[in-house]
Amino acid sequence: MTHSNADERRVSAAMGYLDAETRTRSNLTISTDTQVKGLLFEGTRCVGVTAMVAGQEQAFRASREVILSSGAIHTPAHLMRAGIGPVGHLSDLGIPVIAALPGVGQRLMDHPSIALSSFVRRGARMNKHTRRHIHVGLRYSSNLPGVPLGDMFVAVISKSAWHAVGEQIASLLTFINKTYSETGQVKLASRDYRSEPVVEFNLLSDKRDLDRLMSGFKMMAAVQMTDALKKVTDAPFPAAYSDRVRAIGVVNTKNRILTKLVAQCLDGPAALRRFMIDKFVVEGFTFDQVMTDDEALEAFVRKSAIGVWHASCTCRMGRADDPMAVVDTQGRVKGMQGLRVVDASVFPVVPCANTNFPTLMTAEKISEAMTGQ
Ligand SMILES: Cc1cc2nc3c(=O)[nH]c(=O)nc-3n(C[C@H](O)[C@H](O)[C@H](O)COP(=O)(O)OP(=O)(O)OC[C@H]3O[C@@H](n4cnc5c(N)ncnc54)[C@H](O)[C@@H]3O)c2cc1C
Repeated sequence: MTHSNADERRVSAAMGYLDAETRTRSNLTISTDTQVKGLLFEGTRCVGVTAMVAGQEQAFRASREVILSSGAIHTPAHLMRAGIGPVGHLSDLGIPVIAALPGVGQRLMDHPSIALSSFVRRGARMNKHTRRHIHVGLRYSSNLPGVPLGDMFVAVISKSAWHAVGEQIASLLTFINKTYSETGQVKLASRDYRSEPVVEFNLLSDKRDLDRLMSGFKMMAAVQMTDALKKVTDAPFPAAYSDRVRAIGVVNTKNRILTKLVAQCLDGPAALRRFMIDKFVVEGFTFDQVMTDDEALEAFVRKSAIGVWHASCTCRMGRADDPMAVVDTQGRVKGMQGLRVVDASVFPVVPCANTNFPTLMTAEKISEAMTGQ
């Protein structure tokens, strides 16, 4: 698997672009501990932002334009709070409309996924050798009619979390690269910049996505049942990113100690391990259930499918005559002046790939257009 890693660590956009030399440039100011409250306008021209900087409100004036890069969840929220978005929703919240753009916040997309996890036997764990947790992947074709080749992906994940139990649990994470579910949305919960927007992914609104996750799960189950995998794993279970999993994933001393104790039990006799996994890890569906009953498998997939953190498309790029387009091919917000969006929200459709590099490529392309290179 290709990773944007250096020395076993992820390289973020900030690490990759803001190198020591760039940071010394006189035309660059980086403001940390800063949360943007809102966009400033003179009519339909965006002229700056207001922000809380270390708890103090401050205005930043733009010399030419403002570039909004808050990601596919928060960029549409900024636009809607400023009065740029679907008229009905803005009116419901009493926000005066400065640009009626029905596409803002609509068509939120991600890659739907489902996971089959299992306990990794002691000698087979990778954590002694590397921090990397994804080593191999499998791209395959579902061969559903009308669906392009290579529409599916399986990431083989050798540990599931930072803590002691996470290092014992591996997953076959199947996700749909070419998804058709396009009815997700981001809406405002309130006008207050401090309240998080309401996010609905609706990941399985297209039946083809449900069908492919079900067949993908069965395929991974067949892999899981091979002698080679049985030798290094035990106690497979349909995995869910539940509230319990989220709570134990918070990095703190209590979770560190608790997971160390549980990990010791899991490394003990097989019967104790099975009991612990059934009692504390599995939620609702057992492996045997979903393998023998398609209704149970469907219910499990509907309940447990999640995205793979590739939120996109909520301010999509499109032609001037496309009523749902929010920005043009250079990220300029329709009907406004001095305001661009450059992030994963501008994708017209979620790419048939992971989204980090496509986002960087989009930014490179728009910056070239801006600087005339
Ligand atoms: C856990 C995780 C794992 C991922 N793994 C991969 C992977 O392996 N490969 C891959 O290709 N992609 C991966 N992705 C997806 C990839 O990171 C995203 O697609 C990409 O970062 C999107 O870029 P963006 O600029 O749209 O948004 P972001 O990278 O989210 O950037 C938005 C920025 O805006 C800031 N912001 C938001 N609101 C405000 C505000 N009011 N004031 C100030 N700042 C604000 C946020 O803090 C954030 O820094 C992963 C994502 C996550 C969350």
